[in-house]
Amino acid sequence: MEDGKPVWAPHPVDGFQLGVIVDIGADGLTIKPLSQKGKTFLAPMNQVFPAEEDVNKHMEDNCSLMYLNEGTLLNNIRVRYSKDKIYTYVANILIAVNPYYDIPKHYSPETIKSYQGRSLGTLPPHVFAIADKAYRDMRVLKMSQSIIVSGESGAGKTENTKFVLRYLTTSYGTGQDIDERIVEANPLLEAFGNAKTVRNNNSSRFGKFVEIHFNAKNNVVGGFVSHYLLEKSRICMQGTEERNYHIFYRLCAGASEDIRKRLHLDSPDHFRYLNRGCTRYFASMDTDKQIGQNRKSPEVQYQSYSSIGLDDTEKLDLFRVVAGVLHLGNIDFEETGSTSGGCILMSQSSQTLSYCADLLGLDQDDLRVSLTTRVMLTTAGGAKGTVIKVPLKVEQANSARDALAKAVYSCLFDHVVRRVNQCFPFKTSSNFIGVLDIAGFEYFEHNSFEQFCINYCNEKLQQFFNERILKEEQELYQREGLGVNEVHYVDNQDCIDLVEARLVGILDILDEENRLPQPSDQHFAETVHSKHRNHFRLTVPRKSKLAVHRNIRDDEGFIIRHFLCLGGGLKNNDALHMSLESLVCESKDRFVRELFENSNNSKDSKQKAGKLSFISVGNKFKTQLNLLLEKLRSTGSSFIRCVKPNLKMVSHHFEGAQILSQLQCSGMVSVLDLMQGGFPSRAPFHELYNMYKQFMPDNLTRLDPRLFCKALFKALGLNENDYKFGLTRVFFRPGKFAEFDQIMKSDP
Ligand code: ADP
Ligand code: MG
Repeated sequence: MEDGKPVWAPHPVDGFQLGVIVDIGADGLTIKPLSQKGKTFLAPMNQVFPAEEDVNKHMEDNCSLMYLNEGTLLNNIRVRYSKDKIYTYVANILIAVNPYYDIPKHYSPETIKSYQGRSLGTLPPHVFAIADKAYRDMRVLKMSQSIIVSGESGAGKTENTKFVLRYLTTSYGTGQDIDERIVEANPLLEAFGNAKTVRNNNSSRFGKFVEIHFNAKNNVVGGFVSHYLLEKSRICMQGTEERNYHIFYRLCAGASEDIRKRLHLDSPDHFRYLNRGCTRYFASMDTDKQIGQNRKSPEVQYQSYSSIGLDDTEKLDLFRVVAGVLHLGNIDFEETGSTSGGCILMSQSSQTLSYCADLLGLDQDDLRVSLTTRVMLTTAGGAKGTVIKVPLKVEQANSARDALAKAVYSCLFDHVVRRVNQCFPFKTSSNFIGVLDIAGFEYFEHNSFEQFCINYCNEKLQQFFNERILKEEQELYQREGLGVNEVHYVDNQDCIDLVEARLVGILDILDEENRLPQPSDQHFAETVHSKHRNHFRLTVPRKSKLAVHRNIRDDEGFIIRHFLCLGGGLKNNDALHMSLESLVCESKDRFVRELFENSNNSKDSKQKAGKLSFISVGNKFKTQLNLLLEKLRSTGSSFIRCVKPNLKMVSHHFEGAQILSQLQCSGMVSVLDLMQGGFPSRAPFHELYNMYKQFMPDNLTRLDPRLFCKALFKALGLNENDYKFGLTRVFFRPGKFAEFDQIMKSDP
């Protein structure tokens, strides 16, 4: 950074501002902003970066810039965003900024066509280009591929995932029902698994990995959806500006008169599970005018259920259980006033009880008893398995009711996914392309077990990203015989071990805690600390110590430091009492019974006394996640990093600082460091040959591609420090390929 050259220096709102260095001191650099109003200020040395000469210039591949750093990346994305160019590459990684409006023709059938079979980089950056690369890699390498879409809530993960699915099915399908169904399954999944939150009006509250399977001829033959961690707390409680899952409101708003009567539906304000959150209808999601992108009424939307093969009975089954959950939530308890300290149903709840029992195929009295007492098996006095009934206090009965609602709804969601999977069955498949759409790191004011699992998952995905991008980069240099210094990156294995190690990992300690007669958050936290004394990643929460830019408060629990990760009191209220569990497992209603029979954890949990299914939510997730990662590791991979431009969810508004922090969290900044020190632009000899032979005299074009390139570079007088010849390709220093390309095209 020489005298007078422009630099990017920190700015609290914009992320960076343009300035020049006027003084270098022991405590930092003195920067004079280039804008008229700004005053001179001091900035830490490591937060000031060289800027490009022309800051209005933008590059499709960020690696074509001369200086690869946070400042130039943010600026490149900003300039491009202002021109509706929401996609940018950093080498093979795609950055996607959410435009929050429909850019004309951006995803049209013509656009889809134009990307088919075209190499990455030959057309403007696009999610379609990534999809096509995955497809071509699958075909050429005969290897399954995965596309990992990440970003914070509202960044556009789900929309981009849908574009990938649509691209692949329209481009490489066989034009049969199956193609359409893979796309049509989404509205159903979203109805049951998405909700309005403060960050996203259509926020997916579950993670998914959608596989599109291809036959030996590389045509679409079917699909398969795996889902992860539906957010259960939302079923019973939402923030005041948030809502429960869409299906509840859709049913209240859009059901026909006949269904309303049969399910005893009412307005959302009538139901506890809805009325403590936002009960507003949203024209785009709920009413009979328009639904989502389909622009169809709810009834028609239900027909779109039909188009994936759901008949009227099946639809009614789904709606019946949804309504059953709503009525369940309206059951209230009061103290009996007797010495036993138990509770009974409030008298006005009896009607509700009967609706609920009826809809779920349960016996009213059994349900009443199971909600207000708990069955325990004792071994006291040597009498093995004596059953005793313990009366519940009001708040225990409330928790039991909510636990039942959560169990029923989450089994229903499992069923929806299973049902969706039946719509695109396939007998044999040669390879698949999988798209992973899963929530990014989350920090709320109060962090629960759900955030803990999501962050644990992201930690694993971050490791995978590092492995793929950084390790592979290094291996490529080695393979090509470049003799470049070793690439360094932070490995987070220790953080992952802290969570999942056998016996001493947090998940196992949690299970252990829950086997105690009286588990407590505090004892649990103490055990974690005692087993990991002085672990550098583990600290006791203290508000002031948090280096995170968000305001986090937590009274007990622990904090896991990584580059950004937090777990708090791991309270888990999902315990379903044995009596309630057996009640629904033995429902008179076949549909309800099957929901529970098919849910994978009901079998073994029946054997354990007392607290049931939830015990191993964490460990079950660990297993699922490890399977997923195994799968990802066995495929070729591409990454899409989605970015949310602003918190207001509006178009044409770029909040720099906020975006910068997303780029840092997603590991993009480490990638830039790696690239700046290496050779980020590369091109195979034969590609260069094909691109430039038209400009060259015959005697040059007769050479083989490698010699052709050598001769060409010599003739142009390129600086030998700017590129290196590998075994199969040329590597360029940052910005140098773009320069070279410029010379070739302007001066043939
Ligand atoms: P995420 O899944 O990351 O939470 P979504 O994919 O649901 O975020 O996107 C949130 C909202 O942003 C969408 O409902 C849509 O309105 C808008 N959006 C996202 N991506 C695009 C896009 N490429 N074009 C237009 N609007 C988009
Ligand atoms: Mg989503």
